[in-house]
Amino acid sequence: MQPKTKFQKKVVEVQKKLKPITEQQIRWGYDNCFENSGTITKHKAGCLECGHSWSQKANLLVTIGGCECPSCGKELKIELTAKRKHQKASYWAILTTIGEFQVVRVIYLTKYCKIGTVAHLSCTEVMQHWITAGGKSAVFSKSVNPMSLYYDNWILLSELELKGTMSQASNLRSSIIPNKIHPKRKVLPEIRRNGFKGNFHGISPANFFKVILQDSQFETLLKANQISMLSYYYSRYSYNDPITKYWKSIKICIRNNYIIKDAGTWVDYLNMLSFFNKDLLSSHYICPIDLKDSHDRLVKKHREVSKRRKLEQARRDLQDWQAEYEKQKGKSFGISFSEGEITVKVLETVEEFQKESELLRHCLFGSGYYKKEGSLCLSARIEDQPIETIEISLSTLTIVQARGRGNQATEHHEKIVNLVKNNLNKISRLIN
Ligand SMILES: [Zn+2]
Repeated sequence: MQPKTKFQKKVVEVQKKLKPITEQQIRWGYDNCFENSGTITKHKAGCLECGHSWSQKANLLVTIGGCECPSCGKELKIELTAKRKHQKASYWAILTTIGEFQVVRVIYLTKYCKIGTVAHLSCTEVMQHWITAGGKSAVFSKSVNPMSLYYDNWILLSELELKGTMSQASNLRSSIIPNKIHPKRKVLPEIRRNGFKGNFHGISPANFFKVILQDSQFETLLKANQISMLSYYYSRYSYNDPITKYWKSIKICIRNNYIIKDAGTWVDYLNMLSFFNKDLLSSHYICPIDLKDSHDRLVKKHREVSKRRKLEQARRDLQDWQAEYEKQKGKSFGISFSEGEITVKVLETVEEFQKESELLRHCLFGSGYYKKEGSLCLSARIEDQPIETIEISLSTLTIVQARGRGNQATEHHEKIVNLVKNNLNKISRLIN
């Protein structure tokens, strides 16, 4: 893209003054990013670095421990595959400063080895992250193949071009963590002032610099050596609510020299302290000696309380529904009629619905028939044991269904249906 803003124009101007990577630096990359390797067959070993091969009986010591090439003298790690060709890729970085800018130069390195030939290495600078002490950024990058499944399928012959700010350029590419960083490092004093001591704690250098220059909470965690919390914070960078929510507690931990060893567990533990209304500013609670043990105990307690609350709620719901059911169907309570051994009665409580459902294994209770307006449920029983449940439509005064165990009709079905039919008028009289 063409530089548009004043900042971009300035970066492009300064970038022209940045010296190309030196031969020496390139050599360092070649020497440090890959292990030297070799191959071994039953009687012959080969150096994938210089192409030399020699007689060597395969044995475990050589296979695992490696060997030295008698020609180039390099220590070789034996490749544990029978492949004749080996291709590897790696990233390394140079940290430098120019003017007001921190620059992270990312170099893509490939190594191509084939048995019997000298290894071929090549390297290309594929990205530059430019960051100011104020946290402004610009990315120069080579193009990638847009059709590729990989986010870093570089078009190596393309130009390093301005691609916008770090958030406008690909996040994935800004997150590339180089395997090695050149030991000669130049870092802006503001970055050191904010606590950087050389370790990136698993974050890409470009992202690390940008965050440390912009985010005081990140800086505080780094300076207090709260590394677990720092990683947790960074990994949830876009939704760092737990950290903001518990920031005061974190600061108390820092003041008490309490290192949070497992940030995820600690945040979880604080969520539970908060649930139990404990004082989140008290070191007694928030700095447990055995975090895991304290966490597990609260989890158990939380589970018990939740279970109890759920049961209480269910009981309250049931009471509410009983009151509602009485209001709707109370007039029909007490209706009962018999013939021979069979007695049919109106179900009067929600609990009766539940028992009836359990005994006859149907969905009367689960489907909430006690909530259903315009219908009345009766139970046909022999010696007070439910045999079938009958649903009557109160608007048409007809039997909607009569079902026994598992929704099947019983041998008494005809009798029950007739008995109910003969008494429908009785029901109608009582409830209207
Ligand atoms: Zn060699």
